[in-house]
Amino acid sequence: MQLVPIPRGDPSYNILRKLHLTLLLKTGESGASNYMSFDSLGLNADILRAITEQKYSAPTPIQEKAIPEVLAGRDLMASAQTGTGKTAGFTLPLLQLLSENQSLIKGRRPVRALILTPTRELAAQIGDNVKNYSEFLKLRSMVVFGGVSINPQMMKLRGGVDILVATPGRLLDLEHQNAVDLAKIEILVLDEADRMLDMGFIHDIRRILAKLPAKRQNLLFSATFSNDIKLLAKKLLNNPAYIEVSPGNTTAKHITQRVHFVDKSRKRQLLSYMIGSQNWQQVLVFNRTKHGANHLAEQLNKDGITAAAIHGNKSQGARTRALADFKDGKIRVLVATDIAARGLDIDQLPHVVNYELPNVPEDYVHRIGRTGRAECSGEAISLVCVDEHKLLRDIERLLKNEIPRIAIDGYQPDPTIKAEPIQNGRQGRGSSNRGKNKNQTSRSRR
Ligand code: AMP
Repeated sequence: MQLVPIPRGDPSYNILRKLHLTLLLKTGESGASNYMSFDSLGLNADILRAITEQKYSAPTPIQEKAIPEVLAGRDLMASAQTGTGKTAGFTLPLLQLLSENQSLIKGRRPVRALILTPTRELAAQIGDNVKNYSEFLKLRSMVVFGGVSINPQMMKLRGGVDILVATPGRLLDLEHQNAVDLAKIEILVLDEADRMLDMGFIHDIRRILAKLPAKRQNLLFSATFSNDIKLLAKKLLNNPAYIEVSPGNTTAKHITQRVHFVDKSRKRQLLSYMIGSQNWQQVLVFNRTKHGANHLAEQLNKDGITAAAIHGNKSQGARTRALADFKDGKIRVLVATDIAARGLDIDQLPHVVNYELPNVPEDYVHRIGRTGRAECSGEAISLVCVDEHKLLRDIERLLKNEIPRIAIDGYQPDPTIKAEPIQNGRQGRGSSNRGKNKNQTSRSRR
């Protein structure tokens, strides 16, 4: 008997696919335990082999929920934070769908899947994941982002690419120069959609959507669901499956959180003391502003603790170098702003320090998600001065929990110091700068 692939557009495709998945899910449900393996999700042998190479033993909750829906061809609206395994949640089924119909593609490979993501780091990270998961498939993937020369990207695109991971600005630049044709996109992924809107990418996204074919599968991932996101989802998604993974349900579940109250002027000293006395070797430190991040990195270096800053004003080369040095253990401390830190995936990051609390409580969850990743344990400490008490209350309200307090002798705050308004940098989401400079922000991310 000869097996002929059914094209995705064929009416029988979805019916057969759904039947197949329903049977698989039923089998899973009737199992003796609620432990699900990757084998039962309907992924093909080449993808399962790649998962084994990654040493993932079981799907995370988001993967368990998202993979069958995507394989069934449905649109998806998923609420999931970084650290939940969401990248594999959309990439694995996407690879499977593309490879199933690959034999139908004649001539030069058109871009068939587009993954849009807000930052360069996240794009690079997703690109690495796509490469790993497609190791045994005949699919080509590529990452494009701004801040680096466009010509090599144009050359590589000419050779044909199946899966493109892109930041919005650079993708539009490439499209304007006819280096990429978006008319054959079958699957669109908007990753970290909330962050893309916050960074002012909505116009770029609209322009990109206008270039895509009307018939396609859309997957939207967002950590938060503001009205803007709901509006975008309404326009974009067609009868989507809704998936939510609560923070307590994620891979990042072994994070010890602590708060240390300390005067603003003594934070740097306390940080150096904690790093030195407890011999921390790899620490990610968060600052609200680019200027603050630079300043702190300089001060730590003066204290004899090797540190580098990573933020949007640094060149792509400097950012890549700082991250590589941090991963290799050449520098002990990476000082980052919220936006730059999106997509940083550092294996087994043991320590995250909130040197300054974020303006937006959800960012706290993103920040601490940098530690305790992929089932490893980690510690997140927030250094909180009197100005930040309200921010702390907002975070604890979101977490529905009080974060345990610690106090190192000699660093108790001076009770006579009064709170002052927080001076926000331009990075502050929800700050008074919101809405202004959107174009500038969007351009400068390219
Ligand atoms: P993400 O939320 O997609 O950024 O993934 C967070 C981390 O979890 C990455 O380092 C992945 O390699 C890892 N990861 C993804 N899926 C699994 C899994 N099923 N088991 C263990 N680790 C995973």
